[in-house]
Amino acid sequence: MSRPAESVVDGSKAQAAEAVRDHRRPAAAARAPLAEPKDLPAVDRLLREPAATALVSEHGHTLVAAQARALLERCRGEARAGRLAAGAVALPALAQALQQAVQARLAPRMRAVLNLTGTVIHTNLGRALLADEALAHLLVMMAGPNNLEYDLESGGRGDRDSLVEELLTALTGAEAATVVNNNAAAVLLTIAALARGKEVVVSRGELVEIGGAFRMPDVMAAAGATLVEVGTTNRTHAHDYERAIGERTALLMKVHTSNYAIQGFTSAVDEADIARIAHAHGLPLATDLGSGSLVDLAAYGLPREPTPQEKLAAGCDVVTFSGDKLLGGPQAGLIVGSKAAIERIRKFPMKRALRMSKLPLAALEATLRLYLRPERVAQDLPTLRLLTRPAAAIRALAEALRPAVAAALAPRYEVAVADLQGQIGSGSLPVERLPSAGLAITPVGPKKLAGRALDALADALRGLPTPVIGRIADDRLLLDLRCLEDARLLTGQLAALSATLGTGASNEERGDGRG
Ligand SMILES: *Cc1c(COP(=O)(O)O)cnc(C)c1O
Repeated sequence: MSRPAESVVDGSKAQAAEAVRDHRRPAAAARAPLAEPKDLPAVDRLLREPAATALVSEHGHTLVAAQARALLERCRGEARAGRLAAGAVALPALAQALQQAVQARLAPRMRAVLNLTGTVIHTNLGRALLADEALAHLLVMMAGPNNLEYDLESGGRGDRDSLVEELLTALTGAEAATVVNNNAAAVLLTIAALARGKEVVVSRGELVEIGGAFRMPDVMAAAGATLVEVGTTNRTHAHDYERAIGERTALLMKVHTSNYAIQGFTSAVDEADIARIAHAHGLPLATDLGSGSLVDLAAYGLPREPTPQEKLAAGCDVVTFSGDKLLGGPQAGLIVGSKAAIERIRKFPMKRALRMSKLPLAALEATLRLYLRPERVAQDLPTLRLLTRPAAAIRALAEALRPAVAAALAPRYEVAVADLQGQIGSGSLPVERLPSAGLAITPVGPKKLAGRALDALADALRGLPTPVIGRIADDRLLLDLRCLEDARLLTGQLAALSATLGTGASNEERGDGRG
């Protein structure tokens, strides 16, 4: 007997459950004969079934036997509850259920999705996308040994930081640079290395919470430093910093308020002024930039975001920023600044615990190298490419896709092309919107059922082999197409979407009256 046909590959527990449910569902009538627990075969017997033997030779005994035990256990429970159809205990039916259970168990939990939320750097969807060059470098570097900590010139021990330090100093104008696991780690390490047991002065308007429990006051405490708040929520002046400096002060710090904006009667002191004050007292100034773009986004018609270059030029001794936000690389925390400050940070013991792994380091190096060709960077880096995609091009894509999506969802939903407002995301420029376009999907039928119909659509989109993530707003499901570069990823799944929802050409009549 040949191996059972491949069925759905993706999915997880839900699919395993479905595998059981499908074949035990009393097909004809409620009075279909039911199975009893004693009708179920032993695990060994099921494993001797040809289809199961084929599974064992493909995947080995351990996985298949464990799934067989679990399957029979589930069936036994159903049988005891009087819910298992007699046909379900037949060996071929059980072997098929076993095959589905094994596939579901092997299916990855981390899955590629389509980000049609309109937020380009979406923290929940993995933030920046890596450039092809970074992916290729990563693959080659991880497939074998590399010079992670080996100096190819001297043949002696090397430093992993040196793989990116020269690039970072060349790109930012810093004297020195080091890298850690993420920007939260960069901030923690900077404060610990420069101000442990001492005081750090920060404006009250900049005591940010980034999310995921990263709150500036807590980070200070974790780093062993004492936070000295100055000024007020909306206004902080130069003399506030002056007055706060005392014998125990070790560091002045500025935090980019990346995920909120204080508007109205406000006043903040810029880096150049704080740097003057800090240096007059022999103290360093550190700035946490959060996103920190290496290029001036205004040159691409995007809202301005401060660059590490300008913060260093203004006199900051340390600037920290993320690798996977506007930089467009892997998760990383980049620390650039003066030789003296970076040396203290690099030598601080906590650095070893927060160091970057070779995996993102390879991707970071390749990403940074792309910035050596600034004219090309908006094409080479997917994050910048998506952020700079013209709204007119996105709208043209929406118009091209609308008929196929409308046909797939008729008659239960109507599909229109809409101008939308997207976001950069990841706390960059929180109040700015990116003019975008996409599809606005509205349920047909009574308004009071619209909510449920929208939820059903969102569920069906998430249930596709490549889940599609949109957003619901104003009783519409919106698919912002800014991040859809390969339209086939959507169009190729429309038949599956129709099948799930019971919509589309083959379901036109059945769909009537469902609202
Ligand atoms: C995002 C952000 C962080 C945290 O960076 P991660 O790379 O996510 O660890 C810290 N500070 C600011 C201001 C941020 O915007």
